[in-house]
Amino acid sequence: MAVRSFVARLETGADWRAEIEALAEETGIDAGFFVGLGAGADAELHYYDQDAAEYTPVEFDEPLEIAACVGNVAWLDGDRFAHTHVVCSREDGSTVAGHLNRATVFAGELYVRELDCWLDREPHEATGLDLWLA
Ligand code: ZN
Repeated sequence: MAVRSFVARLETGADWRAEIEALAEETGIDAGFFVGLGAGADAELHYYDQDAAEYTPVEFDEPLEIAACVGNVAWLDGDRFAHTHVVCSREDGSTVAGHLNRATVFAGELYVRELDCWLDREPHEATGLDLWLA
């Protein structure tokens, strides 16, 4: 299989992660890695409590620079899932970072590199997370 690369502009007002998943769906990416940058607002990051084995949502209801976004695309429960991490900067230059559940795109640029494999996520007992099958 020829491995493909894509660049995409994320749509203003859309959801950051949903835009990545829509691109993966439209192009048929079953596994891939991506990097991105831009700006957004109203981010919901999820902090994983390792003792409780559950995500705690943390909301940042403000304009944010998406200084860095990195993640991967794999299958989860029958859908393409974009596991997305971000470092976001605030007006004063301080940052918040973590596992991105959602954020409203102000402007976004994305590069996706397809992988020549199939990635599936399954429940992993030791962590409580949905991890790649080894
Ligand atoms: Zn994560």
